[in-house]
Amino acid sequence: MTIPAAANAQDEDGRPAWQLVIHGGAGVIERSRLTPEQDAAIRAALDQALEAGSAILASGGSALDAVEAAVRVLEDAPHFNAGRGSVFTYQGTIEMDASIMDGSNRAAGAVTGVTATRNPIRLARAVMENSPHVFLSREGADQYSIEQGLPQEPPEYFQTAERRRQLEELRSRPSAEHFDVHLKYGTVGAVALDRQGHVAAATSTGGLTGKRWGRIGDSPIIGAGTYADDRACAVSATGAGEYFIRAGVAHEICARMRMGGQAPQEAADAVMAEVQALGGTGGVIVVTPRGDGVYSFNTPGMYRGQASPSGRSVAIYGDEPAQ
Ligand code: ASP
Repeated sequence: MTIPAAANAQDEDGRPAWQLVIHGGAGVIERSRLTPEQDAAIRAALDQALEAGSAILASGGSALDAVEAAVRVLEDAPHFNAGRGSVFTYQGTIEMDASIMDGSNRAAGAVTGVTATRNPIRLARAVMENSPHVFLSREGADQYSIEQGLPQEPPEYFQTAERRRQLEELRSRPSAEHFDVHLKYGTVGAVALDRQGHVAAATSTGGLTGKRWGRIGDSPIIGAGTYADDRACAVSATGAGEYFIRAGVAHEICARMRMGGQAPQEAADAVMAEVQALGGTGGVIVVTPRGDGVYSFNTPGMYRGQASPSGRSVAIYGDEPAQ
């Protein structure tokens, strides 16, 4: 789905002055699976995230600040699999992953297996800006978070009754089925273009329900779940991470645009077709320096939203229009 640029949203080059696209996960998201209350609460949270990011972009702030702000709102909302509301590991713990990338200089930061940081996306950004590294893991990442003075929370803060129920359901199944039985990937992400023409991407997740053995998905892997490059686009992904890693999804979309001259929708659809051919499901959001905003997903639905100077909109099910 390509988001049309409204006439009043364009500057003299014909591109929207700024653009923000977010997701709250893709998967088997159908009307019959959500109560009206859940549907409304999810839409409200998506809209709040758009509002937070839009306020920054509209006032001339950076794409980097906007994607971080939007993702923080979604991490704080219990409906999504990131921050509060993250899924449980097989052992009943919470291990969160996040990554962020600045398209203006390809600076990037990522963390995996963090257990106490209230907003893992802030930690990813701290790694990018304040450490000499790109990717920190587990105890070391937790330690760095404390050293950076980021807000910490006890395990109960992140845990919700619904996620615990999902873990119990998974554990009651034969072990061969211990792999994301819900096919609902609640990872959150944001991509943005700012008035200066720079793009940025951010992704945050609890991973997959029942994950074990220190499993890491695509979300914190630069080039798989997240990528941003002013020469091409910014991408955030959600889905069965193993396939997104193998397809190098986020970088591959950028590479197709930069070197193959493909349009963003064409590139996103082609890479999602590759994911599907490998057996994977999920979706991506893409923003370009020209102001294009694109979704591509091969699941029944994706929690998503977009904002530009002409307004903002959210959607859940696959048959809802992009705007
Ligand atoms: N991509 C995430 C992972 O594999 C899951 C998700 O998108 O919800 O960890």
